[in-house]
Amino acid sequence: MSYPATYYSRTLADPTTRPTLQGVVETDTVIVGGGLAGLTTALELAREGMAVVILESQTIGFGASGRNGGIVSPAFACSGDAIAARVGAEAARALHRLTIEGVRRVRDNITELGISGAGSIPGLLNLRRFDMASDLHAYAAEFASDYGYEFTYLNRAEISERLVTNRYLHGLEDKQAFHIHPLNYLRALAREVERLGGQIFEASPATAARLATAKSIHTPHGEVRAERAVFATGGYTGPLIPRLWRGVLPIATYMMLTEPAADLIAMAIRTRQAVLDDRRASDYYRLVDGGTRLLWGGRITTRAASPDAIARDLRAAMLDVYPQLAPLRTELAWSGLMAYARHLMPQLGELQTDVWHITAFGGHGINTTAITGKILAEAILGQSDRIQMFAPFALNWAGGPVGLAVAQLTYWYLQAQDRRRERR
Ligand SMILES: Cc1cc2nc3c(=O)[nH]c(=O)nc-3n(C[C@H](O)[C@H](O)[C@H](O)COP(=O)(O)OP(=O)(O)OC[C@H]3O[C@@H](n4cnc5c(N)ncnc54)[C@H](O)[C@@H]3O)c2cc1C
Repeated sequence: MSYPATYYSRTLADPTTRPTLQGVVETDTVIVGGGLAGLTTALELAREGMAVVILESQTIGFGASGRNGGIVSPAFACSGDAIAARVGAEAARALHRLTIEGVRRVRDNITELGISGAGSIPGLLNLRRFDMASDLHAYAAEFASDYGYEFTYLNRAEISERLVTNRYLHGLEDKQAFHIHPLNYLRALAREVERLGGQIFEASPATAARLATAKSIHTPHGEVRAERAVFATGGYTGPLIPRLWRGVLPIATYMMLTEPAADLIAMAIRTRQAVLDDRRASDYYRLVDGGTRLLWGGRITTRAASPDAIARDLRAAMLDVYPQLAPLRTELAWSGLMAYARHLMPQLGELQTDVWHITAFGGHGINTTAITGKILAEAILGQSDRIQMFAPFALNWAGGPVGLAVAQLTYWYLQAQDRRRERR
């Protein structure tokens, strides 16, 4: 199996591998990319009786979907204010409702498919490192009235019962959010696709595509002929479909896993809920392995750093919040690529007749792939036009190398702003 060394690839619930595509296969829909976007779309189509074939260049879940933070919570990578500025307040609220539906769909999949390997644990603490008390109360009240979505406000003392640090001033507890083992979740979706008759091929990169009328996707040893094609290649998108390639920026982000040390970790973290702060370069972390290890994520760069550099950087972030964890050793560090459009919103739509794309989920992909995969399937099946809600976020040129440089500079600028705000 070609997974990078991560906590998730070490703790697979089911090590099944899939064959490489050999020869010609015919199907209704061929999906390129075996991440959450591709698999969710495939699952929703297969649930409606459509024949699907997934082509994955490595192993399903090789990309961001199999190595992420595992936090499932509502929202897009793009802020609610930025969405409203583009589409208006009402349309922005409708879009946010979709992200809540996405969270519910992940939860329902876990329950209905009995995915015990997902190890779902409830709760997310969304914490502020800057003092803006009135904002948080207003935010919680707005969510309760607009979406019927309840947060619990936590003051500093309440936070310190769970987290032994003075970094957090206050925050919101989201009891409906949860965290999972994303790779085990994804692999269970794949099993369900197969149970419904879908076929999945690994080590089968799409290397050429004929898309004029009937669709034909070539791999090194085979070909899939289909009525339609869906491209779901995320941050690993190559030049196969130039418009798609130019439309997204690959952005790297990082995670590390500590050694098992339950007693030491309990001197800092006394909750199984996941934690996320409000900085642009936010830290997010949670306990795994029955609460014995700490999984810590954060930072973004436009060029993937080495595992050693990642570990150093994330460790510094961890010790900034919890200096008492200095003796805690880092065991593993890894990176993954996310796809971002310039406007930070997902990209889904029809590139040309019967050629669809679904990508650009940024750092908020578990809930958003769950709902947009469903919406894309509805569009393909002619069941709804909910896909039109994403029409204002068209697939535009993301700027290539200049776009990457601008993204990195923007990130550094926002990081500096975070530091200034925190010093005040
Ligand atoms: C470190 C990290 C932490 C994150 N934390 C969170 C989190 O806590 N919560 C959250 O909601 N989101 C998180 N995200 C974001 C989330 O993981 C992504 O948005 C989401 O997984 C994207 O799914 P995808 O299917 O679009 O892309 P991917 O999962 O990257 O899948 C794309 C797949 O396409 C394949 N592929 C590419 N080209 C070809 C080809 N030519 N032929 C065949 N296959 C091809 C790749 O091998 C890959 O498997 C995180 C991301 C990272 C990297």
